Amino acid sequence: MAMDKKPARPAGKPGGKFRKGGPMKKKVCRFCVDKIEIDYKNVSLLRAFVTESGKILSGNVTGTCAKHQRELCNAVKRARMLALLPFAAN
Ligand SMILES: [Zn+2]
Repeated sequence: MAMDKKPARPAGKPGGKFRKGGPMKKKVCRFCVDKIEIDYKNVSLLRAFVTESGKILSGNVTGTCAKHQRELCNAVKRARMLALLPFAAN
């Protein structure tokens, strides 16, 4: 299959590090950087990754990598079962 290859990036365009209105805060996965183990009993940690209503924040928002986002999701679900965290209100 012949792909429509573009030879080079157009010059003069920034890499996208900066957005209108100021520099973007670089997001990194807290669990990778700080080597934090995700534990469903660590409610104070989990709370930082859910909204007030108990919804799990997406990795795009928190910067959590896919692997840890999965673990986080499981931990939150477990914490909900034990009534440590609220269920998301719909
Ligand atoms: Zn991670």
